[in-house]
Amino acid sequence: MYPETFWNKPVPAKYRKALEGLELPLDISRRDLFRRVAFTDSGRPRNILGSSSKVEKGEGAGVLTAIVYLSPGREAGINMCPMAAGCEAGCLGSTSRRMTWPTHKKARVSKTVWLMLFREHFLRRLSWEIIGHAMTAEAMGMKPAIRLNGSSDVLWENYNVPQSHPEVQFYDYTKLPAKARAGVPDNYHLTFSLCERPESKGRALDWLNAGRNVAMVVGGESTTDRPGVMLKAAKAAAATIIERGTFEGFPAVSGDDDDIRFDDPPGAWVVLYAKSGALTDSTGFVQRF
Ligand code: SF4
Repeated sequence: MYPETFWNKPVPAKYRKALEGLELPLDISRRDLFRRVAFTDSGRPRNILGSSSKVEKGEGAGVLTAIVYLSPGREAGINMCPMAAGCEAGCLGSTSRRMTWPTHKKARVSKTVWLMLFREHFLRRLSWEIIGHAMTAEAMGMKPAIRLNGSSDVLWENYNVPQSHPEVQFYDYTKLPAKARAGVPDNYHLTFSLCERPESKGRALDWLNAGRNVAMVVGGESTTDRPGVMLKAAKAAAATIIERGTFEGFPAVSGDDDDIRFDDPPGAWVVLYAKSGALTDSTGFVQRF
């Protein structure tokens, strides 16, 4: 698969932070690194697809969803989210309770290195898992769905992943402008994610006016040192907008009831209440009401 010359090269310096995070020597060979990222500590092939309590909510609606968690932002020293800025500090992909566990972080960093340095192998393994997921869903009489960017903003259409599996519904959030994701196939649904960047609001309106959806994370007016109070205020702010039914002239729906984003009405705001690290956001990523 890879020529001997590939294996004989040193691991590039840009993987230094990842190696430190994985507690591996900086002069590790490519072969040894491959074994550490593509296999678990017990020597089993590492699974790329996983699950979460939120995507599992779709099962009641007949959707069997799998999700991929890579390192968000610069967690692995390689930026997996080209537009990430303030959102990194509050990203659910690294700050929600389960995601802070060292084993989960190690798995994210491992998969990120695997994708970036041993891409051909990663994509083949991913394709094999996607086929298995689709067959499982079919056997269960369910619709197969996959969220590839559970904690990243990778352009998977550039790797032909959704195009190679037209029987599967792919979906993701993205902070990239609509024109950067113009090449997504019909089976890949995207929801733009509003953030604190000055250009983000204009891009959100581009997505909405094109009949596509925009996610907005909302919080209460201020931050305190009491997480319970902040969470209650965030839920109240989201509920107020959702009950009203519209925001700035476009329909507003909840993004917290389930993760079936591809069933949202087109051209709508998807309102999510702030959670975990986002509760204390002060960058402007969380819209405060
Ligand atoms: S919120 Fe999105 S863009 Fe920001 S770091 Fe997390 S996954 Fe990346």
